[in-house]
Amino acid sequence: ASVAKPLDIDPTKLSITKTQNPKTPKDPSELVFGREFTDHMLTIEWTKNDGWLTPTIQPYQNLSLDPATCVFHYAFECFEGMKAYRDSKGQIRLFRPDKNMERFNKSAARIALPTFSPTSLIDLIAKFVKLEERFIPDGRGYSLYLRPTLIGTQKTLGIGAPGSALLFVIASPVGPYYPTGFKAVSLEATDYAVRAWPGGVGDKKLGANYAPCIVPQMEAASRGFQQNLWLFGPEEYVTEVGTMNLFVAIRNKETNQKELITAPLDGTILGGITRDSILSLAREKLAPDGWLISERKITMPQLYEASLEGRLIEVFGAGTAAVVSPVRKISWKGKLVDCGLAENEESGEVANKMKTWIEARQYGDEEHEWSHIC
Ligand code: PMP
Repeated sequence: ASVAKPLDIDPTKLSITKTQNPKTPKDPSELVFGREFTDHMLTIEWTKNDGWLTPTIQPYQNLSLDPATCVFHYAFECFEGMKAYRDSKGQIRLFRPDKNMERFNKSAARIALPTFSPTSLIDLIAKFVKLEERFIPDGRGYSLYLRPTLIGTQKTLGIGAPGSALLFVIASPVGPYYPTGFKAVSLEATDYAVRAWPGGVGDKKLGANYAPCIVPQMEAASRGFQQNLWLFGPEEYVTEVGTMNLFVAIRNKETNQKELITAPLDGTILGGITRDSILSLAREKLAPDGWLISERKITMPQLYEASLEGRLIEVFGAGTAAVVSPVRKISWKGKLVDCGLAENEESGEVANKMKTWIEARQYGDEEHEWSHIC
């Protein structure tokens, strides 16, 4: 007898139950990141025998899970962070959702959770976002933050691959990260903890990677630094900043050539979609002006030396939340490393340009294949 193959996600089966109590979207000026949610959520259950079950959009509500559910004990959880934007014609757009789905599947596979067809989930997310359209405020900097999440739901304390899972997507309207324009941040290099290591899971978006980052973040904050900078190894390689990838612009000591550097995807950093977009834009728009664009390792001593020699042009973080986040200073080994901004400057030229170029594609001012119309 033939055994039916477990099913992939099927967007044509989507069932929608609308809320009986629609809320009034909050005034955009009052939005705080990740506090406000829309009326509905997208959920898709998975079981080992049947595969992905009927996708459902239903009223936003609590989940009910047995205390023995494996997600609570062994951290079977991974997630994504992406945004939907409203363009000047009122159309809703996702930014490079294929990249988020690719990363989501890699994270899921690493912790024995089921994978799925990327285009099917994009299709469902697009439908969900259209339904919640009225929660997406108008204007530059505003968007609907989307949080696709996948958890293991099997009720067991036995450690093994979960026999059931739940994928859900919730949505939170958000305002500009810098409501009054860029504000450069200062970082504290963390020398007593590491975020990720070769062969580890730092390149996957697992919830378990995030909780251990809060104490170093609080330590940095207690000394007046907005974020911590993650170093790796005795060489003190510069890896990431908080939950952003890091870019460093320096002038070459011998040739004076300008170089934009970010850490390579060697397993010790999360491969950001913003990072990938910046690299691509840099190769397209900065390289013709003589810039060298490098995915390579750079150490904290090298960054410090460049700063002392006046060769450090600028430093900035890059991620979905802020797009880019200019860096003023880095506290490291009792020194305050100057990252090249003038005192009255909140952003360098490269960070400024990148924000403009990326937003043009996110908000559809520039038609581009990165933008997915819902
Ligand atoms: N690094 C870490 C650890 C992150 O959590 C994030 C946010 N997803 C990033 C980098 C930036 O990734 P992205 O550009 O895809 O938002």
